[in-house]
Amino acid sequence: MRQRRLKNLESKYEAYEDLLIYEPPQMKGRWRELSGGRPVFIEIGCGKGKFISELAGREPENHFIAIEGNMSVMLRAMEKIREKDLTNVTFVPTHAGDLTDWFADGEISGIYLNFSDPLPKNYWYKRRLTYRERLRSYFRVLDRNGTVVFKTDNTGFFEWSVLETAAADLRILDLTRDLHADPEAAADNIETEYEAKYSGLGEKIKRAVIGRGEAAGTEEKYRNG
Ligand code: SAH
Repeated sequence: MRQRRLKNLESKYEAYEDLLIYEPPQMKGRWRELSGGRPVFIEIGCGKGKFISELAGREPENHFIAIEGNMSVMLRAMEKIREKDLTNVTFVPTHAGDLTDWFADGEISGIYLNFSDPLPKNYWYKRRLTYRERLRSYFRVLDRNGTVVFKTDNTGFFEWSVLETAAADLRILDLTRDLHADPEAAADNIETEYEAKYSGLGEKIKRAVIGRGEAAGTEEKYRNG
């Protein structure tokens, strides 16, 4: 049964070959060729693609790489991009590990983490996408002004991530613990699938924008590990 489902999925993927990169390490240092020179942004865990399809439509001057470890939900995301006839989104159907395997230093302009898995068991903390070592590696592949924009409804995960940001010696450039109640922050917000679901259940949506901040010379420091 599982075999048949996989075959079925693979044949559906054939229609989207032009949108897919199966071997991201082979693209390291070359993503700007793929984007036609446009700045490259990534979303880790794009789910069914509501966010990335809206953002890519709104920002045709940028290119987006949607990474998703679950191939069936990614199929929904690719359908949305096709329906909208967008040419500025590329999909990577794999779980993201160390981004420095896939991207050269400074190759990326921004990273979106939307409702990443909170992995509540304590011994999984190193696998959370906002673990300090991961945050540091993001800032190796991000360019000088690059940021990580992180949204979640999960209070514990959010506060832990704020502490991880400090532990990674990075800066919180902007923070809200109730995004939808903050008119300025909400104005250009694109709601994700999970966001709609959990805010509908009364959860407050938190958002942090993480950057290198003002401190001079920090970029060199991260490059040198
Ligand atoms: N961003 C979407 C989905 C959130 S659920 C939304 O806000 O609605 C989290 C998603 O991240 C899941 O689809 C899961 O498969 C994916 N995911 C978790 N870890 C990942 C990783 N390391 N690389 C790629 N995708 C990942």
